[in-house]
Amino acid sequence: MSKENSSIHEFDFSLICEYFSAIHRQGPGSPEVTLKALGFVENLTQASRIADIGCGTGGQTMVLAQHAPGQITGIDLFPIFVELFNVNAAMAGLQDRVKGLVGTMEQLPFQPGELDLIWSEGAIYNIGFERGITEWRQFLKPGGYLAVTEASWFTAERPAEIDVFWKDAYPGIDTIPHKVAQLQKAGYIPVAAFVLPENCWTDHFYVPQAAIQEAFLAKYRGNHAAEAFVANERHEARLYGKYKEYYGYVFYIGKKL
Ligand code: SAH
Repeated sequence: MSKENSSIHEFDFSLICEYFSAIHRQGPGSPEVTLKALGFVENLTQASRIADIGCGTGGQTMVLAQHAPGQITGIDLFPIFVELFNVNAAMAGLQDRVKGLVGTMEQLPFQPGELDLIWSEGAIYNIGFERGITEWRQFLKPGGYLAVTEASWFTAERPAEIDVFWKDAYPGIDTIPHKVAQLQKAGYIPVAAFVLPENCWTDHFYVPQAAIQEAFLAKYRGNHAAEAFVANERHEARLYGKYKEYYGYVFYIGKKL
């Protein structure tokens, strides 16, 4: 579900969940990048409360849990992802500190000022970056951190093909300075912004997908939704190869004032 893609609503969600359940991550990222972002977050203790929003099956959450103290709550809209998330937490021996809950990022189940850290990789586009950072801020303590990845333009201009694709898929995509300004306007100190390396998209995202696509297509031969979905993923991967110098994911880390 890299899928800042409006047409995703035309596909069958259970098929998409099955497809993404078969791979370790549902969006671009890597353990190295998760740890790099965590390096900007200060003051976590065993009493800290952390939320991972749009956690998927928890690829990044388990990395976070192995390197940060405190309790982590993963929130995701899809029960099948949350089920796998909790299995993954148990398999890593983290079940006492890491719990997945079904819920929506539009209505988070936290108290105002409860959280020390809000994490979200490859997911805030579902609510929109500006709305997400603004609405989620209330759940952070003063001095708490927000760390999210967001699709961003690297250049002021870009070829029409990729511009049109993204403006349709996720109109919220913008340049890094614009995103940093949004962070500041929403009441955070922009602590860091760094570009995710290419391997977050290739080795950790598109390559694992390519490995499962044939089996998925074989299982759903003749199913138009499944075929269209895989074709869409392949198209997106091709576009990434062609235009990767113009866009990518950026980790934005902010500290609540
Ligand atoms: N963070 C994971 C998953 C990213 S994919 C990773 O990086 O691998 C985006 C995730 O957001 C999916 O798991 C999807 O189910 C979830 N999602 C989509 N809309 C949501 C919503 N409204 N509330 C909570 N989660 C949502």
